[in-house]
Amino acid sequence: APLRHYNFSAGPAVLPESVLEEAGRNLMSLGDTGVGVMEHSHRGKPFVEIIERAEALIRKLANVPDGYSVLFLQGGASLQFAMCPMNFLPDGGTADYLMTGSWSKKAAKEAKLYGNPHTACSSEATNFDRIPTPAETTYSDDPAYVHFTSNNTIFGTQFPTEPTPPGDAPLVCDASSDILSRPLDISKYGLLYAGAQKNLGPSGVTLVVMRDDLLERKCREVPAMLDYKTYVEGKSLYNTPPTFGIYVLMLVLDWIEKEGGLTAVADRNETKATKLYDYLDGSDLFKPTVAKGNGRSLMNVCFVTGNDETDAAFIKFADERGLKTLKGHRSVGGMRASLYNAFPPAGVDKLIEAMEEFEASRS
Ligand code: PMP
Repeated sequence: APLRHYNFSAGPAVLPESVLEEAGRNLMSLGDTGVGVMEHSHRGKPFVEIIERAEALIRKLANVPDGYSVLFLQGGASLQFAMCPMNFLPDGGTADYLMTGSWSKKAAKEAKLYGNPHTACSSEATNFDRIPTPAETTYSDDPAYVHFTSNNTIFGTQFPTEPTPPGDAPLVCDASSDILSRPLDISKYGLLYAGAQKNLGPSGVTLVVMRDDLLERKCREVPAMLDYKTYVEGKSLYNTPPTFGIYVLMLVLDWIEKEGGLTAVADRNETKATKLYDYLDGSDLFKPTVAKGNGRSLMNVCFVTGNDETDAAFIKFADERGLKTLKGHRSVGGMRASLYNAFPPAGVDKLIEAMEEFEASRS
């Protein structure tokens, strides 16, 4: 088997080895079709079966209620930042944004092109080190929608549960970095989107789960490729979708199901992150950047030593031991261990061992 390091990358991120092996086996010929998986027409039966299976697995794993569409788009989560207001924020209208990090800010910036994003809450004053409480959140009177980022990849915070929007405002969620990492109640959401490259598969596919009646709220004409209706009506096959990405995503969903579904992966994610936070809380050298009770992310665990040179020395020390991509985002510094669904628990043990060894080597 080829050498595989522990990959703590925030995304694109580690994928299950069984998925990579299965994808590799089907590059030259998908099953016994004699045509590689990337070479099949998106209109042919083999691919249509793949996209239908991917949709069915999403519906099953996330318990998607009737009246919702499961869509596969391109353009990443960043295109959703724009498509959402483009479709649903009337000229000069207001939409509420919960500001919990750089991605929330980027999302709100796109809304400014059409209307007025209202900051319902923000933890920016303390460099996004926590999730504001519902008591600190003030919605506008009748927002077109309420947007939040369920997991803040850069700052390592995660909403413990989804916010409750006022009135009949649809809840819109950027779930890029915690999608399918724990059970969720889709019926609370109007629109949920996620770039695939963290928990679902390779980059190039964006999963969108949308309540169909949102289409009635469309407020302006937009190009076909930026119109949710195009994807609903065309079953994500209006134009050529990212076929290979959707195939790998289907394999990842299969893997999640075999692992025991969302409850089982959530348990494992909680065990992995808790072990690391417990270690950090007890360490004299390493400190978690998010305090207990402030919405610690189970997906991205951020920590620092408080000294940039020591951080850099540890990142190098870990890298030499096959613990890769631990460098934190430049806006936080320090280290970030991304522990998505496919990250193996043994990698957390290795990281803790390395931290202990590093700490001992310095005293
Ligand atoms: N939202 C979140 C929470 C993210 O972590 C990222 C990517 N790291 C994005 C949005 C942007 O996603 P994309 O690169 O797919 O546009």
